[in-house]
Amino acid sequence: EKMGIALVGLGYYSTDLLAPALQTTTNCYLAGIVTGTPEKAIKWKQKYNIPDKNIYNYQNFDSIANNPDIDVVYVVLPPSMHKEFVVRAARAGKHVFCEKPMAPSVSDCLAMIKACKDNKVNLAIGYRCQHDPNTQEYMRITREQVYGKVKMISCGAGYFDARTTHWKQNKALGGGVMGDMGVYALQGARLATGEEPIAVTAQASTTRPEIYKEVEETMMFQLQFPSGALAACHTSFGINMNYLQVNYEKGWLKMEPFSAYSDNKGSHSNGVINFPLKSQQAKQLDEDCAAIMNGTTLIAPGEEGLRDIKVVEAIYKAAQNGGTVKI
Ligand code: NAD
Repeated sequence: EKMGIALVGLGYYSTDLLAPALQTTTNCYLAGIVTGTPEKAIKWKQKYNIPDKNIYNYQNFDSIANNPDIDVVYVVLPPSMHKEFVVRAARAGKHVFCEKPMAPSVSDCLAMIKACKDNKVNLAIGYRCQHDPNTQEYMRITREQVYGKVKMISCGAGYFDARTTHWKQNKALGGGVMGDMGVYALQGARLATGEEPIAVTAQASTTRPEIYKEVEETMMFQLQFPSGALAACHTSFGINMNYLQVNYEKGWLKMEPFSAYSDNKGSHSNGVINFPLKSQQAKQLDEDCAAIMNGTTLIAPGEEGLRDIKVVEAIYKAAQNGGTVKI
């Protein structure tokens, strides 16, 4: 039987990516919604045939505990709201999926992991790329040391955001490019080395101070890994870019794009990377639900989200102080 998923927060990502993907999944389906906007509830109810008993608002959400149709709550809200809704979902006894960045702080991440552990529910982070065979191929090339050890990585993730008012520009809601697109560049470096960074330096900047008043528009950050590998990473709300380059002892690898929704592809010294994938989101949802049903390991559990946020906190500290921050 399929697992029932309830989406919390019906903004861009739920509307354009997750709900459509849930029409094609084999292990789960869109069973319910949680929204603060009554008009959206009416629209979604009609479009996706969602029964009234599976529609919640932010106030009555906790009563989802008594709804057997819902197995998983998927939190797709601004990052500052992730902790509250993950904890409430866990207390309601539901498994939880949570979008990236996991939360604005390490302390939030720890509270989320603890709540899920205490309530014996699973927690998965929406790192769709980790389910993409193109990502898994560059991870394999490093793991099997096809070209020896990794020496240097260069990775960039960004897009030009023309919006002038959005939570991504609001510090209190968990905005800033580092958490939003920066985690893709960070994931590129972490997954391509298979290591955790031990020290960072960073520089924040903005070219549109009238829009990016509270948060950075651009972040450049440099990572040192235990093996000696180095990474130069770039992320911006002002620049369209999506690439990963890895230089090994005896070869190279380039992906462009490396973290798009589809058509990620690249090449390396001795071959190409090009695994077509219909829907990253559908594969992520199906694989995470299968892991829960079978009691196997999740590809990106809460601990993986936490690893990134530890580095993100160090990057902000380094950008502020101008020096090297050890992790
Ligand atoms: P969005 O602004 O389009 O949607 C946010 C939703 O939260 C809206 O429905 C809004 O009504 C609701 N909301 C509730 N309280 C709010 C408040 N105080 N301020 C603003 N909105 C509020 O954002 P989105 O792009 O859908 O992003 C939501 C989450 O999904 C974020 O964590 C984001 O990083 C993540 N995301 C992930 C991917 C991915 O590829 N994995 C892509 C896009 C977004």
